[in-house]
Amino acid sequence: MQKRLLLIGGGHSHVEVIRRLALKPEPGVAVTLVSPDRHTAYSGMLPGHIAGHYRFEDCHIDLAALCNRAGIALVADKVTGLDLQQRAARCGNGADLAYDVVSVDCGSTPVTANIPGAENHGVPIKPVPAFLEQWTALRASARSATTELRVAVVGAGAGGVELVLAMAHCIDADGGRARFTIISDGPAILAAHPAGVRRRFMAVLQRRGIEMQLDTPVQRATPGGLVLGNCESAAFDHIIWVTGAAAPAWPRASGLQTDASGFIAVNRHLQSPSHAFVFAAGDIASMLESPRPKSGVHAVRQGPPLTENLRRALRGTALKCHHPQRMVLALISTGDRCAVASYGPIAFGGAWVWRWKDRIDSRFMARYNSLTPEA
Ligand SMILES: Cc1cc2nc3c(=O)[nH]c(=O)nc-3n(C[C@H](O)[C@H](O)[C@H](O)COP(=O)(O)OP(=O)(O)OC[C@H]3O[C@@H](n4cnc5c(N)ncnc54)[C@H](O)[C@@H]3O)c2cc1C
Repeated sequence: MQKRLLLIGGGHSHVEVIRRLALKPEPGVAVTLVSPDRHTAYSGMLPGHIAGHYRFEDCHIDLAALCNRAGIALVADKVTGLDLQQRAARCGNGADLAYDVVSVDCGSTPVTANIPGAENHGVPIKPVPAFLEQWTALRASARSATTELRVAVVGAGAGGVELVLAMAHCIDADGGRARFTIISDGPAILAAHPAGVRRRFMAVLQRRGIEMQLDTPVQRATPGGLVLGNCESAAFDHIIWVTGAAAPAWPRASGLQTDASGFIAVNRHLQSPSHAFVFAAGDIASMLESPRPKSGVHAVRQGPPLTENLRRALRGTALKCHHPQRMVLALISTGDRCAVASYGPIAFGGAWVWRWKDRIDSRFMARYNSLTPEA
């Protein structure tokens, strides 16, 4: 009898699963992908798109085209829960999708649950399509503004810093009017990176006239802006949330084993310890034996072992272990076709680092457009 593999979310790991299934189909298996969007963003190039260096199609993978080539059915919806007894996924439209093996790569969204008002004021960087819509509107209003728009970016990790620099670069190039502030509850920007990286970015932010409010927790979001740690109100026209990663509620509510933050627990096989027919990768997965920070690099690296283990789970053979790298190279862009490399304690940067990053990223994207059979 034909087996059913259900893929939830077209994230960085699942695009590789689909690519590999297109190159080498798994006999006797019907595969379905559930994704609310036809296009999925490649995070490495998203800041470059916002800065104006890449077109939409340069940094988005067309899931419909990829699925079509792999003979995979694409369901345009969101999963809202899993029935782990009946092995069915509930979709937003109320329909159920049956599976024998299910894999989840649905990403994360910024943490805002602890900030009253955040849900109604401002826009989170994820989901990306909704953010890009707001960004288009912000860009247009900055172009026609008679006074400077005040824009707050909350969160000063790599995503927040890259984003604020990309937006500032684009608005400058447009001749628009906007003033940017980056806000963090911690004492430093880029807390996960070495001092050399932080120094370089502090200098770039200062040079671009971006205000920094560090050690400043956001208490509340209001229609007119933010109430900050010192209980002072700060007026902003736009607020963008790029705070750390939060998990959706439905994996835990479905009865899957999760970590304390609600991310799906997985073992070295990227498999749920509580339900052997459930796999997870990318931000939504919490690798119990080898915890790693949430990053696109880890999600990408999980693609090949995830594919192999999904094949093996469907065939009923022994699974392979995934050993994630301890240190990963981060190439963080400064908005202006320059980038800084961060690897362990090492930091270096310049225009050539951006060109290097551009080559790596473009090669990555080409794999999904031309289906090149590389490892
Ligand atoms: C501005 C910015 C820049 C970044 N740059 C980098 C970088 O340079 N390098 C790096 O390593 N990391 C970077 N990151 C982090 C990176 O974005 C994430 O770690 C990465 O996207 C995680 O990939 P993923 O596969 O888990 O999910 P995602 O790439 O987020 O994809 C998840 C997909 O699942 C879909 N989905 C969501 N919910 C459901 C559901 N219920 N049902 C079905 N589908 C669903 C979504 O629509 C989406 O298409 C950056 C983050 C930001 C915010």
